[in-house]
Amino acid sequence: MASARVDLDGNPIKPLTICMIGAGGFIGSHLCEKLMAETQHKVLAVDVYSDKIKHLFEPSSLPWADRIQFHRLNIKNDSRLEGLIRMADLIINLAAICTPADYNTRPLDTIYSNFIDALPIIKYCSENGKRLIHFSTCEVYGKTIGCFLPKDSPLRQDPAYYVLSEDSSPCIFGPIEKQRWSYACAKQLVERLIYAEGAENGLEFTIVRPFNWIGPRMDFIPGIDGPSEGVPRVLACFSNNLLRREPLKLVDGGESQRTFVYIKDAIEAVHLMIENPSRANGQIFNVGNPNNEVTVRQLAEMMTQVYSKVSGEPPLDAPTIDISSKEFYGEGYDDSDKRIPDMTIINRQLGSVLLLEPKDITVGLARVDSYLPTPDVRRSCKEGYLK
Ligand code: NAD
Ligand code: UDP
Repeated sequence: MASARVDLDGNPIKPLTICMIGAGGFIGSHLCEKLMAETQHKVLAVDVYSDKIKHLFEPSSLPWADRIQFHRLNIKNDSRLEGLIRMADLIINLAAICTPADYNTRPLDTIYSNFIDALPIIKYCSENGKRLIHFSTCEVYGKTIGCFLPKDSPLRQDPAYYVLSEDSSPCIFGPIEKQRWSYACAKQLVERLIYAEGAENGLEFTIVRPFNWIGPRMDFIPGIDGPSEGVPRVLACFSNNLLRREPLKLVDGGESQRTFVYIKDAIEAVHLMIENPSRANGQIFNVGNPNNEVTVRQLAEMMTQVYSKVSGEPPLDAPTIDISSKEFYGEGYDDSDKRIPDMTIINRQLGSVLLLEPKDITVGLARVDSYLPTPDVRRSCKEGYLK
């Protein structure tokens, strides 16, 4: 029975009303699913889109129907937001523009979305004494110190030069003309503001820095369930290339490294934050899998193999192609070279076991298959939606 559930300190968990802003996106949809299926919490889901969570409130006969409400509103200009925040015990803010192709091409929208639009939420939480879990990003770390060392320096192998720690790593961004960093910089300033609200006005907050969470419903396949000209994050870009039987495009040779984590593992960590406020408040948490690192080139090779198995189509003779970042993203793009999260703080506070077990890369990334287009999407491609 969900009502008998206890927190990490053995105290019974009381049902909460959670105002989840950006609930209709990738992370929000998985978090809503988890909260409906495994808890008694109520969700006021706020977003401009509902496609990814519709299955949770239609039909109305679903067992949790009275625990989820969808509120279609744009937080930029809707006075209902404050009322919804007042009705909740906890506010989770996921709303953002967060696809790298937008950072250098729509820097104003990026800064407004990630900084300006978050301000009223923080203000209402602070003024009304509401707890806030705010989604930031691993990108606030920017580049590693190690990437500035000579290519052959042995120090590049020393974790002190690349592991990213919440309380000691610097945030290293490129120059202003590299507009890629508009997102990271906006997120960083919001983190500082929330931290300051905590220090000066007693705001109860938790900041989450996701490290490349992946899984179903992430972004969109251009021309299928999103704009044909859009450029989503790498998993969706590669899936799109595979569907169209095009070579996967490796930006600047695909040498950048990322640690990927499966969405359902990461959601476990968020669930613990929600239900253990005394351990999570006042904390900034990295959430990722340090043992699951690949280069973008390796990711492309792995997805090519997985897709071939799923679709029964043999890989192309030349499955990848190199492309410059200028050609792919345009002027002002720049990249994070390597992202390995230090998981000491989350481990100490929440003991998020699932994320910390050393996983063989192939085991962790085998789950990329859960992202790849479903039979339905593949069928619609064959029926001619893709040119
Ligand atoms: P997403 O784009 O799938 O979800 C964001 C949601 O916010 C969308 O459904 C969008 O419609 C909504 N939204 C944006 N602006 C809005 C507005 N003005 N009014 C109402 N709704 C609005 O992104 P996601 O991957 O679910 O990411 C959620 C959060 O986590 C973001 O803050 C992002 O920066 C952060 N993050 C995610 C990852 C990751 O690995 N997925 C990595 C780093 C940071
Ligand atoms: N990338 C790539 N080909 C693509 C899309 C992305 O090589 O079709 C690279 C991108 O340059 C970056 C990495 O993949 O080095 C991850 O990009 P993503 O958009 O997922 O976001 P990021 O991890 O940079 O926030």
